[in-house]
Amino acid sequence: MLSVQVAEAKILALSHPLDATLDIERVDLLAAHGRILATDIRGDLDFPYWDNSAMDGYAVRQADLQGCSPQQPVALRVVMEVPAGHLPQQKLQAGEAARIYTGAMLPVGADTVVMQEQAQRQNNQVWFQHCPEPQAFVRHRGAYYQAGNLLLTPGTMIAAPEIAVLASVQCTQIQVYRRLQVALFSTGNELVAPEESIKPGQIVDSNQFALAALVRQAGAQVQRLGIVGDGLAEVKGAIAQAIAQADVVISSGGVSVGDYDYVDQALSELGANIHIRSVAVKPGKPLTVATFAPTSERPHSVLYFGLPGNPVSALASFWRFVQPSLGKLSGRMAPWQPSSILATTEHVLVADGQRETYLWGHLRLQDGHYRFSLAGGSHSSGNLINLAGCNSFAIVPCGCTQISRGAGVQVLPISTNSPGLWSP
Ligand code: AMP
Ligand code: MG
Repeated sequence: MLSVQVAEAKILALSHPLDATLDIERVDLLAAHGRILATDIRGDLDFPYWDNSAMDGYAVRQADLQGCSPQQPVALRVVMEVPAGHLPQQKLQAGEAARIYTGAMLPVGADTVVMQEQAQRQNNQVWFQHCPEPQAFVRHRGAYYQAGNLLLTPGTMIAAPEIAVLASVQCTQIQVYRRLQVALFSTGNELVAPEESIKPGQIVDSNQFALAALVRQAGAQVQRLGIVGDGLAEVKGAIAQAIAQADVVISSGGVSVGDYDYVDQALSELGANIHIRSVAVKPGKPLTVATFAPTSERPHSVLYFGLPGNPVSALASFWRFVQPSLGKLSGRMAPWQPSSILATTEHVLVADGQRETYLWGHLRLQDGHYRFSLAGGSHSSGNLINLAGCNSFAIVPCGCTQISRGAGVQVLPISTNSPGLWSP
């Protein structure tokens, strides 16, 4: 049984990113939201584009105001008005000021802006009682970015700030990595789809839907292959179909050591290389990770994750191992591993010490400190009910059997829709 850290390192080593020249597509600016940039971005315009004012006020020559004070105020002649979007019509000469507004272009000759609150206007004159710092309230051309320099690097996830940058340099068609194709199926004779009636002994296949949501959230495209019965031929058929069409295959169930667990055998018989069979983690001990090498009919390799069937285990394995792998495979830059947050636990946390144990609950920031409260109810890997509304896993490390109330604990945020991480 591998430690979490060794399993994570092995999985990342098996996760080969999409090709930056072959696996790409062009998308419009807004469609690039959430996608991974595949090229460098450089702009051919400086930013700011030209010297401009950071305030509503008066553009001046700072030398004209040297020595001015409340006792010796100085008046300048207002010779023009420059609203945002206008080209100043003349050069500012000694003894002159320009009425200027935020974002407007600085006239040639002006070097400083005095905010309007510091100036007294009288008809075509403006009075000053203080000498401004040289260059005050001027945003200089190229102060934030000079044309030709690197703006964004390949592997960047395009979120709102990156969209703003791309728009500013007029990059309206963006080269991004194609979406990963992820095939997904559930194994189990007991499973029925949510819309089917449940007969005695049957359960609803919730994993397929929860995992599909997580795959989508990771930016990949999901191909749902449905429910597969516990039989060697059936499982082999599903795997063969899945690897023919996807970059990554995720199945749930059938990876334990029971008589009906056929995933590992099916993988071996189909020629897969199995790298991981179990990890010292709770929930989520049974975890199969395998690879299929490229063949003449299928020119790409395929990474296979056989997740445990227990609903919490399936999700925990996804968050801890599949999500970082999808991040790396999709072309995203490192780090791919989840990062934990040090919090104070409000409840005692108990584990058997044999495996790294995740206990689910709620992380919140209160008075500048992170606090973790444990979800009430059973922490069995079959209890998917109290996982809803949780936003994090508290980690009880291997070898530790108890973390006392009020002690520090590392907490892994989990990607749910639950609100409240930042609540007061
Ligand atoms: P397995 O890993 O196949 O031994 O399944 C372990 C447990 O998880 C069993 O109690 C299953 O009924 C349950 N389970 C397996 N697959 C699913 C699924 N797709 N959705 C919900 N529960 C499942
Ligand atoms: Mg099963």
